[in-house]
Amino acid sequence: MERIIDLRSDTVTHPTERMRDAMRDAVVGDDILGEDPTVKRLEALGAEMFGKEAGLFLTSGTMSNQVAVLTFCNKGDQIIVHNRAHIYNLEVAGLASVCGVQARPIQAINGMYDLKELEKEIHTAQIQTAPTTLICLENTFDLNRGLVVKPDYIAEVKKIADEHDIKVYMDGARIFNAAVALGITVDKLNQSVDAVGVCLCKGLGSPFGSLLLGSKEFIAKARRMKQMIGGGMRQGGIMAAAGIVGLEEMVDRIDEDHENAKILASCLQKVGLGIDMEQVQTNVIHIDLKAVNIKAAEFCDNLLSLGIKAKPVGEFEVRMITHKDFKTAEINTVVSKVEQCIGN
Ligand SMILES: *Cc1c(COP(=O)(O)O)cnc(C)c1O
Repeated sequence: MERIIDLRSDTVTHPTERMRDAMRDAVVGDDILGEDPTVKRLEALGAEMFGKEAGLFLTSGTMSNQVAVLTFCNKGDQIIVHNRAHIYNLEVAGLASVCGVQARPIQAINGMYDLKELEKEIHTAQIQTAPTTLICLENTFDLNRGLVVKPDYIAEVKKIADEHDIKVYMDGARIFNAAVALGITVDKLNQSVDAVGVCLCKGLGSPFGSLLLGSKEFIAKARRMKQMIGGGMRQGGIMAAAGIVGLEEMVDRIDEDHENAKILASCLQKVGLGIDMEQVQTNVIHIDLKAVNIKAAEFCDNLLSLGIKAKPVGEFEVRMITHKDFKTAEINTVVSKVEQCIGN
Protein backbone atom coordinates (compact mmCIF):
# COMPACT_ATOMS: atom_id res chain seq x y z
CA MET A 1 0.00 0.00 0.00
CA GLU A 2 1.05 3.56 -0.65
CA ARG A 3 2.26 5.66 2.25
CA ILE A 4 -0.47 7.62 4.00
CA ILE A 5 -0.01 11.37 3.64
CA ASP A 6 -1.01 12.85 6.98
CA LEU A 7 -1.96 16.54 6.90
CA ARG A 8 -4.08 16.62 10.06
CA SER A 9 -1.40 18.45 12.04
CA ASP A 10 2.30 19.22 12.28
CA THR A 11 2.31 17.13 15.48
CA VAL A 12 2.24 13.88 13.47
CA THR A 13 5.87 14.13 12.37
CA HIS A 14 8.46 11.57 13.40
CA PRO A 15 11.76 12.58 15.01
CA THR A 16 14.77 12.91 12.72
CA GLU A 17 17.67 10.47 12.93
CA ARG A 18 19.72 13.23 14.52
CA MET A 19 17.08 13.64 17.20
CA ARG A 20 17.12 9.91 17.94
CA ASP A 21 20.93 9.93 18.07
CA ALA A 22 20.93 12.95 20.37
CA MET A 23 18.45 11.26 22.71
CA ARG A 24 20.51 8.08 22.94
CA ASP A 25 23.74 9.99 23.50
CA ALA A 26 22.36 12.61 25.91
CA VAL A 27 24.34 13.29 29.06
CA VAL A 28 21.78 13.20 31.87
CA GLY A 29 21.30 13.79 35.58
CA ASP A 30 18.39 14.29 37.95
CA ASP A 31 16.67 17.39 36.63
CA ILE A 32 14.45 17.85 39.68
CA LEU A 33 17.70 18.27 41.62
CA GLY A 34 18.84 20.70 38.91
CA GLU A 35 21.54 18.30 37.71
CA ASP A 36 20.63 17.45 34.13
CA PRO A 37 23.12 19.21 31.84
CA THR A 38 21.12 18.56 28.69
CA VAL A 39 17.93 20.07 30.11
CA LYS A 40 19.97 23.06 31.26
CA ARG A 41 21.46 23.41 27.78
CA LEU A 42 18.01 23.37 26.16
CA GLU A 43 16.68 25.93 28.62
CA ALA A 44 19.69 28.22 28.11
CA LEU A 45 19.48 27.88 24.33
CA GLY A 46 15.77 28.74 24.37
CA ALA A 47 16.32 31.74 26.64
CA GLU A 48 19.07 33.01 24.35
CA MET A 49 17.04 32.59 21.16
CA PHE A 50 14.00 34.33 22.69
CA GLY A 51 16.02 37.09 24.34
CA LYS A 52 14.66 36.23 27.79
CA GLU A 53 16.59 35.69 31.02
CA ALA A 54 15.64 32.08 31.64
CA GLY A 55 13.85 29.03 30.27
CA LEU A 56 11.95 26.03 31.57
CA PHE A 57 11.50 22.68 29.82
CA LEU A 58 7.98 21.27 30.12
CA THR A 59 6.17 18.27 28.73
CA SER A 60 3.69 20.10 26.50
CA GLY A 61 2.30 23.39 25.27
CA THR A 62 -0.71 22.83 27.48
CA MET A 63 1.55 22.57 30.52
CA SER A 64 3.40 25.75 29.47
CA ASN A 65 0.12 27.62 29.37
CA GLN A 66 -1.12 26.30 32.70
CA VAL A 67 2.22 26.84 34.45
CA ALA A 68 2.44 30.39 33.08
CA VAL A 69 -1.02 31.25 34.46
CA LEU A 70 -0.26 29.56 37.80
CA THR A 71 2.92 31.62 38.02
CA PHE A 72 1.49 35.00 37.04
CA CYS A 73 -1.89 34.78 38.78
CA ASN A 74 -3.53 34.11 42.11
CA LYS A 75 -6.65 32.07 42.59
CA GLY A 76 -9.72 34.17 41.86
CA ASP A 77 -7.96 36.54 39.46
CA GLN A 78 -9.46 37.34 36.11
CA ILE A 79 -7.45 36.82 32.95
CA ILE A 80 -8.21 37.99 29.43
CA VAL A 81 -8.15 35.39 26.65
CA HIS A 82 -9.21 35.21 23.02
CA ASN A 83 -12.56 33.49 22.69
CA ARG A 84 -11.03 31.17 20.05
CA ALA A 85 -7.79 30.53 21.93
CA HIS A 86 -6.36 27.12 22.71
CA ILE A 87 -5.83 28.05 26.36
CA TYR A 88 -9.56 28.77 26.73
CA ASN A 89 -11.08 26.04 24.56
CA LEU A 90 -8.77 23.05 24.38
CA GLU A 91 -7.15 22.62 27.77
CA VAL A 92 -9.91 20.75 29.63
CA ALA A 93 -10.91 23.93 31.51
CA GLY A 94 -7.52 23.93 33.22
CA LEU A 95 -7.79 27.68 33.75
CA ALA A 96 -10.74 27.02 36.05
CA SER A 97 -9.80 23.67 37.55
CA VAL A 98 -6.00 23.81 37.76
CA CYS A 99 -5.29 27.54 38.00
CA GLY A 100 -8.51 28.66 39.71
CA VAL A 101 -8.75 31.81 37.60
CA GLN A 102 -11.74 33.23 35.80
CA ALA A 103 -11.26 33.57 32.06
CA ARG A 104 -12.81 36.58 30.40
CA PRO A 105 -12.99 35.65 26.71
CA ILE A 106 -13.01 38.47 24.18
CA GLN A 107 -13.36 38.31 20.44
CA ALA A 108 -10.08 38.80 18.64
CA ILE A 109 -10.39 39.05 14.90
CA ASN A 110 -7.23 37.65 13.29
CA GLY A 111 -5.74 37.25 16.75
CA MET A 112 -6.03 40.91 17.64
CA TYR A 113 -8.23 42.30 20.38
CA ASP A 114 -9.90 45.60 19.76
CA LEU A 115 -7.59 47.64 21.99
CA LYS A 116 -10.37 49.85 23.36
CA GLU A 117 -12.47 46.82 24.27
CA LEU A 118 -9.41 45.15 25.78
CA GLU A 119 -8.77 48.10 28.02
CA LYS A 120 -12.41 48.21 29.11
CA GLU A 121 -12.21 44.61 30.26
CA ILE A 122 -9.28 45.22 32.60
CA HIS A 123 -10.82 45.41 36.05
CA THR A 124 -9.43 46.40 39.40
CA ALA A 125 -10.28 44.65 42.65
CA GLN A 126 -13.46 46.19 44.04
CA ILE A 127 -16.01 44.89 46.48
CA GLN A 128 -17.71 42.91 43.68
CA THR A 129 -15.02 42.50 41.02
CA ALA A 130 -11.93 40.36 40.65
CA PRO A 131 -8.69 42.00 39.56
CA THR A 132 -7.49 41.38 36.02
CA THR A 133 -3.86 40.30 36.24
CA LEU A 134 -2.97 38.82 32.86
CA ILE A 135 -3.60 39.27 29.13
CA CYS A 136 -3.06 36.18 26.99
CA LEU A 137 -2.13 36.31 23.32
CA GLU A 138 -1.64 33.51 20.80
CA ASN A 139 0.77 33.47 17.83
CA THR A 140 0.22 32.00 15.35
CA PHE A 141 -3.41 32.59 16.19
CA ASP A 142 -6.15 29.99 15.74
CA LEU A 143 -4.84 26.47 15.33
CA ASN A 144 -7.22 25.99 12.40
CA ARG A 145 -5.90 29.02 10.52
CA GLY A 146 -2.34 29.76 11.65
CA LEU A 147 -2.56 33.55 11.46
CA VAL A 148 0.41 35.79 12.15
CA VAL A 149 0.20 38.47 14.85
CA LYS A 150 2.69 41.29 14.30
CA PRO A 151 5.14 42.69 16.86
CA ASP A 152 3.86 46.27 16.66
CA TYR A 153 0.40 45.09 17.72
CA ILE A 154 1.90 43.05 20.56
CA ALA A 155 3.75 46.18 21.71
CA GLU A 156 0.45 48.07 21.86
CA VAL A 157 -1.05 45.37 24.06
CA LYS A 158 2.01 45.53 26.29
CA LYS A 159 1.64 49.29 26.60
CA ILE A 160 -1.94 48.90 27.85
CA ALA A 161 -0.85 46.11 30.22
CA ASP A 162 1.92 48.31 31.64
CA GLU A 163 -0.48 51.18 32.21
CA HIS A 164 -2.56 48.82 34.37
CA ASP A 165 0.45 47.10 35.89
CA ILE A 166 -0.52 43.64 34.59
CA LYS A 167 1.36 40.99 32.59
CA VAL A 168 1.25 39.70 29.01
CA TYR A 169 1.65 36.02 28.21
CA MET A 170 2.15 34.69 24.70
CA ASP A 171 0.97 31.19 23.82
CA GLY A 172 3.53 30.71 21.08
CA ALA A 173 2.92 27.05 20.33
CA ARG A 174 3.68 27.89 16.67
CA ILE A 175 5.66 31.07 17.28
CA PHE A 176 8.48 29.96 14.97
CA ASN A 177 5.99 29.77 12.11
CA ALA A 178 4.95 33.36 12.86
CA ALA A 179 8.56 34.56 13.07
CA VAL A 180 9.59 32.83 9.85
CA ALA A 181 6.53 34.22 8.04
CA LEU A 182 7.45 37.73 9.21
CA GLY A 183 11.13 37.22 8.41
CA ILE A 184 12.20 38.20 11.92
CA THR A 185 13.73 36.33 14.85
CA VAL A 186 11.69 35.11 17.82
CA ASP A 187 13.44 37.52 20.22
CA LYS A 188 12.23 40.53 18.21
CA LEU A 189 8.75 39.07 17.90
CA ASN A 190 8.48 38.47 21.65
CA GLN A 191 10.26 41.57 22.90
CA SER A 192 7.07 43.00 24.44
CA VAL A 193 5.74 39.92 26.22
CA ASP A 194 6.54 39.01 29.82
CA ALA A 195 6.65 35.31 29.04
CA VAL A 196 6.22 33.04 26.03
CA GLY A 197 5.59 29.32 25.63
CA VAL A 198 6.70 27.44 22.51
CA CYS A 199 6.03 23.88 21.36
CA LEU A 200 9.03 21.83 20.31
CA CYS A 201 6.83 19.12 18.79
CA LYS A 202 5.02 21.10 16.08
CA GLY A 203 6.95 22.83 13.31
CA LEU A 204 10.28 21.93 14.90
CA GLY A 205 9.51 18.23 14.61
CA SER A 206 10.71 17.08 18.04
CA PRO A 207 8.75 14.21 19.59
CA PHE A 208 7.55 16.13 22.66
CA GLY A 209 8.06 19.07 24.93
CA SER A 210 7.72 22.78 25.19
CA LEU A 211 9.73 25.66 26.55
CA LEU A 212 8.55 28.52 28.71
CA LEU A 213 10.72 31.65 28.58
CA GLY A 214 10.68 34.69 30.83
CA SER A 215 12.50 36.55 33.58
CA LYS A 216 14.69 34.69 36.09
CA GLU A 217 12.18 35.42 38.83
CA PHE A 218 9.25 34.19 36.74
CA ILE A 219 11.03 30.97 35.74
CA ALA A 220 12.11 30.25 39.33
CA LYS A 221 8.46 30.27 40.42
CA ALA A 222 7.32 28.46 37.27
CA ARG A 223 9.76 25.66 38.08
CA ARG A 224 7.95 25.08 41.36
CA MET A 225 4.53 25.22 39.66
CA LYS A 226 5.74 22.62 37.15
CA GLN A 227 6.77 20.39 40.02
CA MET A 228 3.45 20.96 41.77
CA ILE A 229 1.43 19.67 38.84
CA GLY A 230 3.68 16.65 38.40
CA GLY A 231 5.77 17.92 35.52
CA GLY A 232 9.17 17.13 36.97
CA MET A 233 11.20 14.81 34.72
CA ARG A 234 14.13 13.07 36.35
CA GLN A 235 16.57 12.26 33.53
CA GLY A 236 14.76 14.80 31.35
CA GLY A 237 17.84 15.25 29.18
CA ILE A 238 16.76 12.24 27.12
CA MET A 239 13.77 14.30 26.04
CA ALA A 240 15.45 17.70 26.02
CA ALA A 241 18.12 16.41 23.61
CA ALA A 242 15.59 16.14 20.78
CA GLY A 243 14.39 19.67 21.53
CA ILE A 244 17.91 21.04 21.16
CA VAL A 245 18.13 19.49 17.69
CA GLY A 246 14.76 21.07 16.91
CA LEU A 247 15.91 24.54 17.90
CA GLU A 248 19.31 24.22 16.24
CA GLU A 249 18.42 22.51 12.99
CA MET A 250 14.73 22.80 12.22
CA VAL A 251 13.91 26.51 12.31
CA ASP A 252 15.49 27.34 8.97
CA ARG A 253 13.44 24.78 7.08
CA ILE A 254 10.03 26.02 8.26
CA ASP A 255 9.93 28.27 5.18
CA GLU A 256 9.56 25.13 3.11
CA ASP A 257 6.34 24.21 4.98
CA HIS A 258 4.93 27.67 4.35
CA GLU A 259 5.85 27.48 0.68
CA ASN A 260 4.21 24.03 0.40
CA ALA A 261 1.08 25.31 2.15
CA LYS A 262 0.77 28.21 -0.30
CA ILE A 263 1.24 25.99 -3.35
CA LEU A 264 -1.14 23.31 -2.07
CA ALA A 265 -3.74 25.90 -1.07
CA SER A 266 -3.71 27.63 -4.43
CA CYS A 267 -4.03 24.28 -6.26
CA LEU A 268 -6.95 23.27 -4.04
CA GLN A 269 -8.59 26.61 -4.60
CA LYS A 270 -8.27 26.11 -8.37
CA VAL A 271 -10.07 22.77 -8.19
CA GLY A 272 -12.99 24.44 -6.40
CA LEU A 273 -12.42 24.39 -2.64
CA GLY A 274 -13.14 27.54 -0.65
CA ILE A 275 -9.81 28.95 0.52
CA ASP A 276 -8.98 32.51 1.51
CA MET A 277 -5.41 32.77 0.25
CA GLU A 278 -4.77 35.86 2.38
CA GLN A 279 -5.25 33.65 5.41
CA VAL A 280 -2.72 31.07 4.26
CA GLN A 281 0.05 32.83 6.16
CA THR A 282 1.99 29.93 7.65
CA ASN A 283 1.61 26.13 7.43
CA VAL A 284 -2.16 25.89 8.03
CA ILE A 285 -4.78 25.70 5.25
CA HIS A 286 -8.38 26.34 6.26
CA ILE A 287 -10.78 24.85 3.72
CA ASP A 288 -14.47 25.67 3.26
CA LEU A 289 -16.38 22.85 1.52
CA LYS A 290 -19.69 24.67 1.07
CA ALA A 291 -18.73 25.58 -2.49
CA VAL A 292 -18.54 21.87 -3.36
CA ASN A 293 -21.40 20.98 -0.96
CA ILE A 294 -19.68 18.08 0.81
CA LYS A 295 -19.66 17.74 4.58
CA ALA A 296 -16.26 17.75 6.26
CA ALA A 297 -16.65 14.29 7.83
CA GLU A 298 -17.61 12.68 4.52
CA PHE A 299 -14.83 14.50 2.66
CA CYS A 300 -12.20 13.38 5.18
CA ASP A 301 -13.48 9.77 5.15
CA ASN A 302 -13.30 9.64 1.37
CA LEU A 303 -9.88 11.25 1.37
CA LEU A 304 -8.65 8.72 3.92
CA SER A 305 -9.76 5.86 1.71
CA LEU A 306 -7.44 7.36 -0.92
CA GLY A 307 -4.53 7.58 1.51
CA ILE A 308 -4.75 11.20 2.68
CA LYS A 309 -5.57 12.35 6.19
CA ALA A 310 -7.10 15.79 6.80
CA LYS A 311 -8.92 17.11 9.85
CA PRO A 312 -12.58 18.11 9.97
CA VAL A 313 -12.90 21.30 12.04
CA GLY A 314 -16.54 22.23 11.38
CA GLU A 315 -19.56 20.93 9.53
CA PHE A 316 -18.17 22.13 6.20
CA GLU A 317 -14.66 23.04 7.32
CA VAL A 318 -11.43 21.08 7.05
CA ARG A 319 -7.86 21.94 7.87
CA MET A 320 -4.61 20.72 6.38
CA ILE A 321 -1.24 21.47 7.94
CA THR A 322 2.08 21.06 6.17
CA HIS A 323 5.16 19.85 8.05
CA LYS A 324 8.64 18.41 7.67
CA ASP A 325 7.39 14.93 6.71
CA PHE A 326 5.26 16.30 3.86
CA LYS A 327 7.25 16.84 0.70
CA THR A 328 6.67 19.26 -2.17
CA ALA A 329 6.55 16.29 -4.53
CA GLU A 330 3.44 15.02 -2.71
CA ILE A 331 1.36 18.12 -3.47
CA ASN A 332 0.19 16.73 -6.82
CA THR A 333 -0.92 13.48 -5.18
CA VAL A 334 -3.02 15.37 -2.63
CA VAL A 335 -4.60 17.57 -5.29
CA SER A 336 -5.54 14.65 -7.52
CA LYS A 337 -7.05 12.68 -4.62
CA VAL A 338 -9.04 15.74 -3.57
CA GLU A 339 -10.31 16.08 -7.13
CA GLN A 340 -11.43 12.45 -6.99
CA CYS A 341 -13.27 13.15 -3.71
CA ILE A 342 -15.21 16.12 -5.02
CA GLY A 343 -16.04 14.31 -8.26
CA ASN A 344 -14.12 16.57 -10.67
C1 LIG B 1 -0.81 22.78 20.16
C2 LIG B 1 -1.15 24.02 20.88
C3 LIG B 1 -1.07 24.06 22.28
C4 LIG B 1 -0.84 22.84 23.14
O1 LIG B 1 0.30 22.15 22.90
P1 LIG B 1 0.42 20.60 23.33
O2 LIG B 1 1.88 20.36 23.26
O3 LIG B 1 -0.38 19.83 22.35
O4 LIG B 1 -0.13 20.48 24.71
C5 LIG B 1 -1.32 25.28 22.90
N1 LIG B 1 -1.64 26.37 22.19
C6 LIG B 1 -1.73 26.36 20.85
C7 LIG B 1 -2.06 27.62 20.14
C8 LIG B 1 -1.49 25.19 20.15
O5 LIG B 1 -1.58 25.17 18.82
